[in-house]
Amino acid sequence: MKYSEYEIPSDLIFKTEDIKAMGGLKCSVLLNPSDFEDCKDFAGKIKRIETKLSFSILSKEILVNGDISGIREVECSRCLKEFEKSFNEKFSQLYSTKSEIIDIMYLIRQTLALLGGTRNLCSEECKGLCPYCGCDRNEVHCDCKEPSFSQFACLKEKISKK
Ligand SMILES: [Zn+2]
Ligand SMILES: [Zn+2]
Repeated sequence: MKYSEYEIPSDLIFKTEDIKAMGGLKCSVLLNPSDFEDCKDFAGKIKRIETKLSFSILSKEILVNGDISGIREVECSRCLKEFEKSFNEKFSQLYSTKSEIIDIMYLIRQTLALLGGTRNLCSEECKGLCPYCGCDRNEVHCDCKEPSFSQFACLKEKISKK
């Protein structure tokens, strides 16, 4: 098979024999964001996603180096507003040349799952929500103040007198 005639499988499940027949493969694929709707809970809503892959044949294994990048819509950890954030992650994995398939979609989903552990801020200066009245401090200036130590002391006195 000629490299130029190879059609990238749309589900990103590659046949090991195809990769071997071509002596490796380098490709870049624009993926359909709607295929990642189920990743919303941990990775946010995917707006754009692209992957660059490189398959190298070693003596007994195939090494896959990948890079995924795109844009996702996430919620700010401080003010809860949704905003778009770009991402770029790398992965690499070895497969035995005896395995039948190389499931790249699985690797991509695993990589997206790791994005869930990151904190998202709409801006480094985000003031967040007021813990007392709940207003967005980036938009509204409220007069809430943190209860001072003396107010707590006075409350404690009232409770102990009862
Ligand atoms: Zn924010
Ligand atoms: Zn407030």
